[in-house]
Amino acid sequence: MSKKSVAYGKFVRYFWKRPKLAKEILKLGIKLELARRRVVANIKNDFASWVDSVALSIVSSAFEGGKIALVNLFFPVEIMAGFDLKCVSAEGLAGMLAAMHLEDLALNRAEAMGISKNTCSFHRAGLGLNLLKMVSNAKVVAATNALCDGNVPIFKTIAQIHGLDPLIVDVPRTFDQSSVHSVSQQLEGIVHELENELNQSFNYSKFEEQLKIESEIFGTLRELYPKLCENPVGLHLYQHVNLLYALHVRPDVHMLKAVRALRKQLDSNAPTFKKRFLWMHLSPYYDNVLNDIFSKDSQYSVVASELSWDWLNWKIDVAHPFKCLAEKILSNPLLGDVETRAKFALQLAFDFKVDGVIHFNHFGCKQSSGSVEILKNAFDEVRIPFLSLDGDCVDHTSASSEQYKTRIQAFLEMIG
Ligand code: SF4
Repeated sequence: MSKKSVAYGKFVRYFWKRPKLAKEILKLGIKLELARRRVVANIKNDFASWVDSVALSIVSSAFEGGKIALVNLFFPVEIMAGFDLKCVSAEGLAGMLAAMHLEDLALNRAEAMGISKNTCSFHRAGLGLNLLKMVSNAKVVAATNALCDGNVPIFKTIAQIHGLDPLIVDVPRTFDQSSVHSVSQQLEGIVHELENELNQSFNYSKFEEQLKIESEIFGTLRELYPKLCENPVGLHLYQHVNLLYALHVRPDVHMLKAVRALRKQLDSNAPTFKKRFLWMHLSPYYDNVLNDIFSKDSQYSVVASELSWDWLNWKIDVAHPFKCLAEKILSNPLLGDVETRAKFALQLAFDFKVDGVIHFNHFGCKQSSGSVEILKNAFDEVRIPFLSLDGDCVDHTSASSEQYKTRIQAFLEMIG
């Protein structure tokens, strides 16, 4: 997400006509960057550095040669821990290409297959990079239809490319006992299916271990939440995206180190910001002016991102693991009607005492952009300024940075 990534992307592109070599160069670059981030995290031992290293480790797993499960952002990754599979999110891989300005290669490949340009670019790029055989070690392809119906056809196609049967969790939109029962039964069914497919027994101790790690991660975040709302840590806008990926896809021991570091950090001097903002939905993955405006050292700070806090209230019950995973999926405030999402966003805005809210309308994403009017009305009612910003998170050629700049500057001026 930096000029360095773009430069490296240019270097990879130079070798693109020799795909094996290009992939090796890509792999090497990611490996070196991950090593650098781990060293930085160990030296600094602060929240942001650990989060940055965890986010990159997700992408890196796709190229390390170990067995992986390709999943979407809301799939319960804990299950894969019982099979020693590292989860890699297809959305994250699409984001990695965008950060290097290489996304056109995957988008063009998907379009050549007949995928419409109106389809979400996360889906197009995620599919395209699999068509380009950039990921060769996927042993499982799994997704939920929670929050995004588009996942099902895309993940089915990705599974087909890898010669696998897709695993799909059909998530009802209401949180009641029968939904919890249905989802937990499906998850248990997936475990049995995987035992047969992979010819491997499910390791309950590893599964439990994973849940215990997450119990500490989310427990610590819940405990620190009031302090964090008062004195948020300074994060670059792109680090909020790293955080939501880390929490959803790789809540591992390094993420545990992140929240432990956060505890210490909150006891030291907190930065002060002129204005605070809540970010809704995602933000562009490529280097762009939004990252300059909302940088860690800017007086305008994004203090919370909607998708980093969607599982804050999830309570882990290791004794009833499948039921608690079903509750995790079903309790997501973005899953139900838009009023529930608005209530959740309002609560975040009040808790973090924000001066404004920015909703990024990712092109082709009906589920988030379709709610914007209702969200805007909800914030208008409580007199919190709301900006609806159009753009594309993956395709860096889709909107000029200048357009973002003009809209945001006008919004900041209006807030004062
Ligand atoms: S951006 Fe929207 S359409 Fe695209 S994967 Fe996410 S939820 Fe689905």
